[in-house]
Amino acid sequence: MNPADPDVAPVHVAVFGSVNTDLVVDVPRLPRPGETVLGGDVRSSPGGKGANQAVAARRLGAHVDLIAAVGEDDAGKELGRQLRREDVGVEALIIAAGRSSGTALIVVEASGENTITVAPGANAALSAADAAAHAEVVTAADVLLLQLEVPVAASLAAAHLAGRAGRLVVLNAAPLAAQVAPDILRLVGACDVVVVNEAEASALAAASAEPPDRFVVTLGALGARWVDRGASGGCPSFVVDPVDAVGAGDTFTAALAVALAAGHDLRAAVRRGCAAGALATLAPGAQTAMPTTARVDELLQQAVHA
Ligand code: ADP
Repeated sequence: MNPADPDVAPVHVAVFGSVNTDLVVDVPRLPRPGETVLGGDVRSSPGGKGANQAVAARRLGAHVDLIAAVGEDDAGKELGRQLRREDVGVEALIIAAGRSSGTALIVVEASGENTITVAPGANAALSAADAAAHAEVVTAADVLLLQLEVPVAASLAAAHLAGRAGRLVVLNAAPLAAQVAPDILRLVGACDVVVVNEAEASALAAASAEPPDRFVVTLGALGARWVDRGASGGCPSFVVDPVDAVGAGDTFTAALAVALAAGHDLRAAVRRGCAAGALATLAPGAQTAMPTTARVDELLQQAVHA
């Protein structure tokens, strides 16, 4: 099956996850506790792993529905508008009464070091009942894509709905604290494919997590490794001149999920993820640089690996 073939119906991806506004300030150096540092102008951009992965999958040609929650505020209205502009399905975008929209406060030092504080807001209100209320959206898709920025019980309910309907469930187990909570291990066990970066892979290994059948570890500029039941392998990264790696992991995961839904095996899906992730580093911000299928195909044909 060729996902770039216009005669083939697009794959259908459901994303159950977070929506945030990213507020970014550049500073000469990060403040110490109690200290005030003057920075540049604040930049606002749409983010949240759920929204990012939904936008990335849509750019890659999938039909996408996002099940998520925003607050009852102007930021929530703007986040909804932005998703509609990207042609992401928002029929299941919940407006959480009395909540503010999720916000990430990102402070970036000239050296590139940063601190990120997330106010989950409406994302924390997403529940197992919301998953059940939108069961049709979850089960209509070929693949369900999950992350860890909304309550785990809600994601677990969505994973069970999709799994019972025979749909593929892909979890990007991020962000993940070094101490992995037992409910996260249950969620990992309920998913078909788990994608993590190196730090998250170490945290899961330290928690003695039962390894899922299909497991992918992204390695930044070194590409990615994968395990598919008994088999394993690696994909070197594609040579690019990176500007900013923000959003590379989200783009990788979305490309992998779209490729699996289109019938590729894990090895080929990881290769498409690596190409898409590399292209996502070519412009600042999470969603700005997310590539189209045509750009991914072009890079795959050139096939210049590090
Ligand atoms: P995360 O942001 O979640 O830690 P990574 O940094 O591992 O994720 O990036 C995800 C994927 O994006 C990598 O597996 C790789 O394929 C691609 N990527 C990231 N940084 C680069 C880079 N500098 N050059 C080429 N590809 C990159």
